Amino acid sequence: MSTAVAAPVLPTYARQDVTFVSGDGVWLVADTGDRYLDLVAGVAVVGLGHCHPAPRAAAQVQLGQLWHTSNLYWTEPMAELAARLSGRFGGAQAFFCNSGAEAVESAIKYARKATGRPGIVALEGSFHGRTMGALSATGQPAKREAFGPLVPGVTFARLNDVESLVAAARPDTGAILLEPVQGEGGVHPAKAEFVAAARTLADELGALLVLDEVQTGVGRTGTFFCFEQLDVRPDVVTLAKGLANGLPIGALLVADEAAGAFVPGDHASTFGGNPVACAAACAVVDEITDELLSNVRAREQQTRDSFPNARGRGLLLAIDVDGPAAEVVSSAFERGVLVCTAGERTIRLTPPLTITTGELDSGLAVLQEVLA
Ligand code: PLP
Repeated sequence: MSTAVAAPVLPTYARQDVTFVSGDGVWLVADTGDRYLDLVAGVAVVGLGHCHPAPRAAAQVQLGQLWHTSNLYWTEPMAELAARLSGRFGGAQAFFCNSGAEAVESAIKYARKATGRPGIVALEGSFHGRTMGALSATGQPAKREAFGPLVPGVTFARLNDVESLVAAARPDTGAILLEPVQGEGGVHPAKAEFVAAARTLADELGALLVLDEVQTGVGRTGTFFCFEQLDVRPDVVTLAKGLANGLPIGALLVADEAAGAFVPGDHASTFGGNPVACAAACAVVDEITDELLSNVRAREQQTRDSFPNARGRGLLLAIDVDGPAAEVVSSAFERGVLVCTAGERTIRLTPPLTITTGELDSGLAVLQEVLA
């Protein structure tokens, strides 16, 4: 048994029996010296590739200057990141935290405070995280089952079914919470008409439209925010995963027109806005250029050319397979390619956004071989 398997770690993950020691771009290197082409990228986190020089340099400079002050004071990286994200959003205020689930918790609290209404409409098949509020809004009963009682007030609608969305609304609905592409739940994109209907319904109810862009944000789907492709302006957006290319960070963004609900003391996070994570995130945001976004769209097309049944947006893609997806993951792993699952019969591809034509070609060729 390897040391990794013997480690005293709670078995919440079915980890592959491999220990990685270094990474460079799309490549990961194991302690055995074996190299793996990484089409997982830390589950849609390492968007610029492993150890990308820009966030690495920014984090290293910041490590030499200042690590932590608490939120009793201002720091430059936090203020600069807020300004960058506000610019990309077209006017928003930020709250920083450490993970996707924490960003979703912040969004739920924000919507309750802003509207005075506790109800949340979420979607079946969704995934918003493992903390109690985020879990309560996660539309996968198996993930919730053992952990009740959950946060009350959540009703579920079906993705891309406007009638069921309207039926799920209540007079006390304060938030409609959606992923623009359901990621963990199987990579199911929300249709623009559906998101537009959610916008209209939120306005009619006096509720906030909250888009969970933890997985879809920061260029993953071919635009900085996925909502840019859906022709909708949300009130609240959550970000995490790709924001600092692997350093822990989460963000709640509240559109300027929906701002004003939180006052000092309403919400907090000791490490939120950490200068090192924010410095890295500023560098990441600067790297999400038009050129990089067109690479995302071109590599999406390349994947679709190889797998016409691929679904998703940008480089958040899934392929349904005939047998257990876990077996495909293992076979690809044995051939030096990392992919992950999104459901029992679906594999998910979330490579670095920087992946080249050649690198992707070699990964897709292995997948073709495994699935043949
Ligand atoms: N929201 C979405 C859409 C996610 O995909 C995830 C994680 O996969 C989360 C929230 C939770 O993020 P974290 O694991 O950082 O808490």
